[in-house]
Amino acid sequence: MANGRILDGTAIAAAIKEDVAREVTKLAAQGILPGLAAVLVGNVPASQIYVRSKVKTCEALGIASELITPADTVTTGQMLALVAKLNAREDIDGILLQLPLPPQVNAKALLEAVNPDKDVDGFHPVNVGRLQTGQPGLSPCTPSGVIELLKRTGIPMSGQNAVVIGRSDIVGKPMAILLLQQNATVTVCHSKTRDLAEFTRNADILVVAMGHAGFVTSEMVKPGSTVIDVGMNRVTSREDFDRFFAGDSRREKMFREKGSTLVGDVDPRAFRVAGAYTPVPGGVGPLTIAMLMANTVRAAKLRRGLKV
Ligand code: NAP
Repeated sequence: MANGRILDGTAIAAAIKEDVAREVTKLAAQGILPGLAAVLVGNVPASQIYVRSKVKTCEALGIASELITPADTVTTGQMLALVAKLNAREDIDGILLQLPLPPQVNAKALLEAVNPDKDVDGFHPVNVGRLQTGQPGLSPCTPSGVIELLKRTGIPMSGQNAVVIGRSDIVGKPMAILLLQQNATVTVCHSKTRDLAEFTRNADILVVAMGHAGFVTSEMVKPGSTVIDVGMNRVTSREDFDRFFAGDSRREKMFREKGSTLVGDVDPRAFRVAGAYTPVPGGVGPLTIAMLMANTVRAAKLRRGLKV
C-alpha cells in the first residue's frame, strides 16, 4: 500500500535488546545484577499485558525482575511505604509504577516519591530537569526509543525541521527536547495550534502523538519526509476499518479474525507520501519496552558511578 521506506521498530527493538543483554553480561562480570521492580495495582487488563511483557523481557535479557501487585483498594499511604522500601533496596535499580493508578491513589505524589536515580520511566521532575539541562539522567522510554530508531536507521536530525504534534509530559514534550538535543529545529503543535497543516507540511521529521485515529492525512505530509506515528488506536467498526484499510487484504484477514486492528494517529494512506515511516503496529510500540530495559541497565550503572 505504501511507497515510503518502512522503519521497522520490531527489528530496531531487537537490536537494542541485544545491546542491553551484552551490557548485562559485562555487569555480571563485575558482580552487578540490574534489578527492576514493576508495581501493578488492580486488574486493568491492558496494564496486566504490558507489565507481564516487561517482566518477560527482563527475564530474556538477564535482568532481575520482581512483580508487586497491590490490590486496587490500596491507599496512597500504603503505596508510599512500598515505594520507600523499593527506594532503599540495594538490589533494585529501577522502579516502574504501571499507570493508570486507581483514583484514590495520588499518582503525582507517588511518581515524585520514587528515587530519581531509580526512575526508569523518566517521569520524575528531577529527571525532567536533567533532560532539559542536558545532564545525565533517565529519559522517558517512548521518545528515547524514537531517537534510537532515527539514529539506527540513519535518518539525519541535525538541521532538520522537526514538528511534534502533542505536548504530553510522557511523549510530546520530552520528544521535542530530545530532538532539540540532536540539533533539529523543533516546533511543538497541540490542540490550540492554528493551521496545523501549515506546520506539518514543512516538517522533514513529523512525530505524531495525539491519540486521534488517522488524523494526519496525505495533504499534511511533506513529500519524502520521515513520519513517526506514536499513536495507537483500536479500530473496531467496519466503517472505520474501510476508511483506513479498504483493499488491504492482510489487515482484512486480521480484522475478521480478531474483530479489531490498530491504527496510528496518521492515516495509513499518508505513508505513501512519506520517504520513511513507522508502521502501526510494529513501529514505535516495540521500542518502548526495549528502552525500559536500556534505562534499567543505565540506572544500574549511573547509581554505581560507572560510565554510561
Ligand atoms: P495525551 O496525553 O492525550 O496528549 C495528546 C496531545 O495531542 C495533547 O498535547 C493534545 O493537545 C494534542 N492534540 C489532541 N488533539 C489535537 C488536535 N486536534 N490537533 C493538535 N494536537 C492535538 O496523549 P499521549 O499520552 O501523549 O499519547 C499520544 C498517543 O500516543 C496515544 O495514541 C497513545 O496511545 C500513544 N502512545 C503510544 C506509546 C507507544 O509505546 N507506542 C506510548 C505512549 C503513548 P493539548 O495539550 O492542547 O490538549
